[in-house]
Amino acid sequence: MTEIFKNLIAGELVGGSNASRNINPSNTNDVVGEYAQGSIEDLNNAVAAAKAAFPAWSRTTPQERYEILKKASDEILARKEELGRLLSREEGKTLPEGIGEATRAGQIFAFFAGECLRLAGEAIPSIRPGVGVEVTREPVGIIGMITPWNFPIAIPGWKVAPALAYGNCVVIKPADLVPGSAWALVDIIQRAGLPKGVLNLVMGRGSVVGQALLEHKDVHAISFTGSVSTGRKVAAACIASNPMKKVQLEMGGKNPLVVLDDADLKLAVETAVNGAFFSTGQRCTASSRLIVTEGIHDRFVEAAIERMKGLVVDDALKAGTHIGPVVDQSQLDQDLKYVAIAKDEGAKLAWGGEVLKRESPGFYMQPALFTEASNAMRISREEVFGPVASVIRAKNYEEALAIANDTEFGLAAGICTTSLKHATHFKRNSEAGMVMVNLPTAGVDYHVPFGGRKGSSYGPREQGAYAREFYTTVKTAYTLA
Ligand code: NAD
Repeated sequence: MTEIFKNLIAGELVGGSNASRNINPSNTNDVVGEYAQGSIEDLNNAVAAAKAAFPAWSRTTPQERYEILKKASDEILARKEELGRLLSREEGKTLPEGIGEATRAGQIFAFFAGECLRLAGEAIPSIRPGVGVEVTREPVGIIGMITPWNFPIAIPGWKVAPALAYGNCVVIKPADLVPGSAWALVDIIQRAGLPKGVLNLVMGRGSVVGQALLEHKDVHAISFTGSVSTGRKVAAACIASNPMKKVQLEMGGKNPLVVLDDADLKLAVETAVNGAFFSTGQRCTASSRLIVTEGIHDRFVEAAIERMKGLVVDDALKAGTHIGPVVDQSQLDQDLKYVAIAKDEGAKLAWGGEVLKRESPGFYMQPALFTEASNAMRISREEVFGPVASVIRAKNYEEALAIANDTEFGLAAGICTTSLKHATHFKRNSEAGMVMVNLPTAGVDYHVPFGGRKGSSYGPREQGAYAREFYTTVKTAYTLA
């Protein structure tokens, strides 16, 4: 019999009469587990538990919080291979990528364990004689978290760790496609010594559990990562609620990678193929627009196709697989729909784009590279969120920069060049939150801010010490001594 993984509410595992199957996208015969589908009542109980736990938790010492987060980090890192395997099995990224992501979650908890001890305030002289001013940071309260399926442990980790470090209580609703990694993470943190009710997990549908979380009057803030269309609904609900909720949104991307004539060709191809297709292209930071200047264009395309021919698309858990399956049938349908749209619009399918059959039944797709694309095409403007990238030809650096910035999104942008002048100019003039020089647009450090501009992000940055801007609220106190 398949094990049923229950919700964690007030420190107890509850529910499960209504559960959904977590299916391995590399092998649809493989059921990872049955995971409880929470109800609105479960959500209300979780928020009530968080509310009850908040007064005591928000007054814990930094040392108490440090010890719990550090213990959680130690267990995540000790179990990274097992957690990485679970992640790859439920999401479809390759085993090394899954283990890498689990490792990152462990590192994030270690970082925020340290942050517990680093939260300082300011003492500022007043403009009035005899008056002192103190600026301190306090926890926000109860944080609701809604996460997407493509980073099943890292994203819950980079939201939960700072929330707890700064003394908040949490109700998290992970993506319904990949609840397993979030369940394992919450289990680890709970057993690290967290008081009951501080962290609650309610799995289930966005339209039910997510929506109820957005509307609950006792939730003070929402941290959301997902698509732009859901993000808009989240922000609207946060503003409509009374009192209004603080909100942070991390959403999609249509990230450019500029390749200039003077680029190291081998490095540029590696950077592009990694950024566009690794993790099956299912990264918000994936390079889906490869903007290549005329002098290197044909050599770049030829070398990129050669490199793509060598990519092994297969079961995520198999040794030697470079690209795992697409996450599910509906995402595969979306990817194929965009391949058809791009062809209709006049882009040339230079490689891949077809469904592949493998030993096990799964959602396998050959990564697709389009050439002769223009920046006006839908393939260049809309997020596909799969292994699909297009090459856009540019006359020179100036035109490449203009194309890179001509998008509604602004998450990540990259440039491959050996010119210090162009690299420096690009870093200053790219309209993205994260800029990479001779590095893939995807792949970031955990101790520095993460986030974008324009339609990609809304609200304060995530990760690193900057996370405190969202997870704390500032108090200004005046004293006449
Ligand atoms: P999604 O928007 O479909 O779902 C995200 C989460 O929102 C899920 O947990 C879902 O259940 C929930 N949800 C759906 N409808 C809701 C509602 N009405 N009320 C409340 N919650 C609701 O996104 P997805 O398909 O899971 O993830 C892919 C998207 O995430 C892509 O657009 C990708 O770019 C983006 N993403 C962004 C970042 C980033 O940091 N910028 C990172 C990873 C993924």
